[in-house]
Amino acid sequence: MDQGTLSSPLLSGIPGLVHGFVPDARTGPPGIRRPRQVHGDRVVTVGELAKGATPEADAVLTRPGEPPVGVVTADCVPLLLVDPRGEAAVAVHAGWRGLAAGIVERAEAALRTAGARGPLVAAIGPAASRCCYETTVEIAGRLGARPERVRPSRPGHVRVDLRGVAKDRLGALGIGEERIELAGGCTICDPRWPSWRRDGERAERLLAFVGWKRRGRIRAGEER
Ligand SMILES: [Zn+2]
Repeated sequence: MDQGTLSSPLLSGIPGLVHGFVPDARTGPPGIRRPRQVHGDRVVTVGELAKGATPEADAVLTRPGEPPVGVVTADCVPLLLVDPRGEAAVAVHAGWRGLAAGIVERAEAALRTAGARGPLVAAIGPAASRCCYETTVEIAGRLGARPERVRPSRPGHVRVDLRGVAKDRLGALGIGEERIELAGGCTICDPRWPSWRRDGERAERLLAFVGWKRRGRIRAGEER
């Protein structure tokens, strides 16, 4: 695997879980299943990806015994949302369009549908941050960004902390600060990470992946 792969200490502590943020998707581990990303709000299961034509979606859910899943980004927010009790995990591509459309909330709902009952844990990977990410006031409004996530720039524009917006969305779902980890920094000003804003067409893609080791399921006899 790529030497620059970043992992989250918070997720690393979950038994049976594998995950990572890889700077160049081409060097990621083999066997990661990915959807056809369209900046939407649809969540699919890895089983749906296996049924032939790759569906358009921006989040994928996997359970123990199933293949690992991933999304690719270059400035958008890569988010891994996990049930630490081992029912399921979701990889989410959350750009401003996805955040505004509610993809974080849909990913959480998909985990609940998959059987997750207790508190969830999240890792937010490198993405465009407030130091560099400029957008319009209108888009910041559509994101529902809290005032502390926004800083004025030139007329009609603001700098937005996209990762902070994602974190606030998780917080609104009841996921406490101690259960959300920010891994890495800003893709635009940290040259270790691919950035669409910085590199344009030639930008590589960051791979965020998550899954379960084959024997990750809680053994019989333990309380489920
Ligand atoms: Zn920056």
